[in-house]
Amino acid sequence: MKKIQMVDLQGQYQKIKETVDNSIQEVLNSSAYINGPYVKEFQADLEKYLDVKHVIPCANGTDALQIAMMGLGLEQGDEVITADFTFAATVEVISLLKLTPVLVDVEPDTFNIDIDALKKAITPKTKAIIPVHLFGQVANMDAVMEIAEAHNLFVIEDNAQAIGADYTFKDGSKKKAGTIGHVGTTSFFPSKNLGCYGDGGAIFTNDDELAHTLRGMVNHGMYKRYYHDVVGVNSRLDSIQAAVLKAKLPLLDSYCEARRNAARFYNNTFANNPNIITPTTSSCREICDTCNCHVFHQYTLKITNGKRNELHQHLLDNGIANAIYYPVPLHAQKAYKDDRYDENDFKITNQLIDEVISLPMHTELDTEQLEFITKTINDFLK
Ligand SMILES: *Cc1c(COP(=O)(O)O)cnc(C)c1O
Repeated sequence: MKKIQMVDLQGQYQKIKETVDNSIQEVLNSSAYINGPYVKEFQADLEKYLDVKHVIPCANGTDALQIAMMGLGLEQGDEVITADFTFAATVEVISLLKLTPVLVDVEPDTFNIDIDALKKAITPKTKAIIPVHLFGQVANMDAVMEIAEAHNLFVIEDNAQAIGADYTFKDGSKKKAGTIGHVGTTSFFPSKNLGCYGDGGAIFTNDDELAHTLRGMVNHGMYKRYYHDVVGVNSRLDSIQAAVLKAKLPLLDSYCEARRNAARFYNNTFANNPNIITPTTSSCREICDTCNCHVFHQYTLKITNGKRNELHQHLLDNGIANAIYYPVPLHAQKAYKDDRYDENDFKITNQLIDEVISLPMHTELDTEQLEFITKTINDFLK
């Protein structure tokens, strides 16, 4: 069998080639490379899809996080709480802005921010919480919003991995991931669930005033051309990427569905293997097949018999790509180490880095590939 990749961007492109090529050609014909009509059109389409008042497109998901924090007026010394087990972008921009990152442990089953750890980390200096909806599953937003309200904190959802997911609140109402907190951010990096063909990102908010501030900030702090009211950045979604995204957005729900179907196949096939713990969709347990609470940006197993590294190599030897997301917890990274941190506070992350392995997960996986991957794993971990 041909090597199986983590993502199959080429396979996905071939199915939408004509539409996307035409859109890109239109941008080339118009030469409106920056802030062309496609940027506004995609912005409006995404606002409608997410049912959010304002989408502010920007250059990438890392910028989106940075600009969101700038827009909220966070200042040097303010503490921002986020999860220890995630991609570094979140803690990176907190540090860049000279805010104080406060990393906390995650839940062992969902890998999302642990609510008790979050509560314990709050001090008088805490100003914001950044829940990361890791691997495509929304964090416990009922609890996060309750805590934020009680302590008057901002909530910035890092939704780079869960665009398209729904969150069902305790009262049964639903919202799209990224539109629950004061502000949400996402990335359109090619391998994300809604990916463009380069870099891209966006910020979401229902707050009119904040949206206005952010729109200026992404554009050098200008609210009127050549009048700079605040310190901003240059962070734009370019027209070609917007054209790609406008063509792909109508397919996002079917992309999420394809990922969920692959995840269901994996879950069923590993169900009886005692050495494997399959992903939990804990926010809604029994109804998760229909409620869309997990859009499987990654499909991540826990290997409990200590053979994770051997499995990683065995899969590579058999032409099956796989990855360890993430091999080092953020609190232990050279750039983010700090005497404030106590290893005892990171029991779960420290365990996860030894147990997790992410399997191929994308919209083009077929049954033959899934059967080969699962058989290879079940045979190896008998
Ligand atoms: C990908 C990602 C980012 C950064 O997005 P870029 O567009 O690559 O800058 C931020 N946070 C999380 C959780 C991500 O997965």
